[in-house]
Amino acid sequence: MQKNLKIYKDKDAHLRYLKGKTIAIIGYGSQGKAQALNLKDSKFNAIIGLPPKSKSKKIAKRDGFKVFTTEKAAQLGDIISILAPDHLHQEILESQIEKNLKPNQALIFAHGTSIYFKLVRPPKYVDVILVAPHGPGELLRRGRACPLPFSGDHKGLPYRIPPTRMTAFLAIYQDYSGNAKKIGLAYAKGVGLTKDGIIQTTFKDEAIGDLFGEQAVLCGGLSELIKSGFETLVEEGLSPENAYLECVHQIDLIANLIKSYGITGMYNRISQLAEYGSYLSGKRVINKDQMKKILTEIKNGTFIKDWIKEHKGGMRNYQRMKKAYQDHLLERTGKKMRKIVAAFN
Ligand code: NAP
Ligand code: MG
Repeated sequence: MQKNLKIYKDKDAHLRYLKGKTIAIIGYGSQGKAQALNLKDSKFNAIIGLPPKSKSKKIAKRDGFKVFTTEKAAQLGDIISILAPDHLHQEILESQIEKNLKPNQALIFAHGTSIYFKLVRPPKYVDVILVAPHGPGELLRRGRACPLPFSGDHKGLPYRIPPTRMTAFLAIYQDYSGNAKKIGLAYAKGVGLTKDGIIQTTFKDEAIGDLFGEQAVLCGGLSELIKSGFETLVEEGLSPENAYLECVHQIDLIANLIKSYGITGMYNRISQLAEYGSYLSGKRVINKDQMKKILTEIKNGTFIKDWIKEHKGGMRNYQRMKKAYQDHLLERTGKKMRKIVAAFN
């Protein structure tokens, strides 16, 4: 257990550290749009940096922002928040930002990867800060997402699901100004991340933990678990619709129970039949040796090297794997079942 988990809330963050400053948001996608709009709502001067031919330019302008080239925005910004895709950071920083950096500017990243794996190496005379939200921009913009509560309380246990909290990580890599943490906290407050709490970490732990969590558990692991379960049932003759309802449809209910009450709390709220079978079978579908291998490849940089190579090679493997999911029977069934289930409401 980590001793003294440091969590900063609104009261710990002071907006005066951003007062009168220009915040250049580089990229206007999931995070860029949400963070820029939240900063504007917090009355800060946010400007947007995008490539000259960017598709996002029109959207940023329509949302009321001044849009500059990435280079110009980085010159104008006291704080430069890098919210373009991670695989572009190296070329963006090297060709458009680094040569324009002045002492005491602050670079903010929303993921630890580029700094930890040294894809970018900012000069010593700027602050380098991590403000990494634990969720997509859409959720940050909405502030709080509230999953639907559900009933079915057969054991008299509560099923109340609290609204999703938007936590985040804060880390400091370079503190040239002596105020990096205060600037990071003020920025986090401006984008609405100290409302629920921002937790202190390091670039290293955020980069490794986030990559592993999304690959092995939350996104990659879960998607393959669902797909394999679905395929197994369909291959044995169950209809795709039934297989979908069994392997996908209830996933949010179980996830919410685990989040709200822990794994034992979830088990206390399902049947003992389901619970007993889960104890026996759950372990059999997990390969922890592979998990350790995945973590090693993340830690030693093999994964990041592969991702940059993939990007430079035109993303052919990425597109092939994406298409395989898009064309899968599971996705076609999901589309149909979501419509049917929505009609129940
Ligand atoms: P994203 O949506 O993929 O970002 C796309 C935006 O970047 C578009 O506006 C794109 O413009 C712009 N862009 C492309 N090249 C650029 C350049 N050379 N200069 C400036 N802008 C450029 O990215 P994201 O998912 O928000 O991720 C941004 C950062 O947040 C990453 O570090 C990511 O790890 C982190 N993060 C993301 C999430 C999430 O859920 N999305 C959560 C936590 C942290 P065009 O429209 O012209 O392509
Ligand atoms: Mg991530």
